[in-house]
Amino acid sequence: MLVLVPCGRVEEKKNQDWRAMQSPARQAVFQRLGEFGMTDLESHLKFEVSYTPHSWIKMYNLTKGAAFGSVSHNFLQVGYLRPQNRHPHYENLYFVGGSTRPGNGLPLALISANLTSERIFKEVAIPEQRRKLSFVSAKFVLEAELVE
Ligand SMILES: Cc1cc2nc3c(=O)[nH]c(=O)nc-3n(C[C@H](O)[C@H](O)[C@H](O)COP(=O)(O)OP(=O)(O)OC[C@H]3O[C@@H](n4cnc5c(N)ncnc54)[C@H](O)[C@@H]3O)c2cc1C
Repeated sequence: MLVLVPCGRVEEKKNQDWRAMQSPARQAVFQRLGEFGMTDLESHLKFEVSYTPHSWIKMYNLTKGAAFGSVSHNFLQVGYLRPQNRHPHYENLYFVGGSTRPGNGLPLALISANLTSERIFKEVAIPEQRRKLSFVSAKFVLEAELVE
């Protein structure tokens, strides 16, 4: 069983004690699950692993340990206002993933890969034959992920 508890990001200037927050968060989870009828879950636990935003920094180098990356989906960070997938000055430098367009989360990160590769194919002259092959494999991965 995996339980995701929404929380803030790491703020170096704030006095955050993630370890201290874990115990009350854990209790709140069991209490909530108890309200749904899972009253004896805790006694059946064989092992337990718990992560904090610092875990994501250490494991994946995520900015501020934020699970959905450094750019959120607020009004000023979506659509045209979101960082574009090509560098504004170095025109042969492209970006892909949750912090560029269209957004974060696995499905959008995959769409980002598709959009960026299409853009590279269009802007950097790639022979037609290779271009078709790469489109097919990128689309296959994307469709498989969306079906799941
Ligand atoms: C706990 C958790 C739960 C999540 N749950 C969901 C969910 O249910 N649904 C959903 O859609 N999304 C979920 N997400 C978000 C989703 O994982 C991300 O939005 C998505 O993975 C972003 O893809 P990305 O390719 O941009 O970055 P990442 O998947 O973070 O890939 C970046 C890669 O670059 C590597 N890297 C970082 N820095 C360096 C460096 N300096 N040098 C070399 N390599 C480096 C990292 O190790 C990583 O492998 C979750 C994230 C977390 C942490």
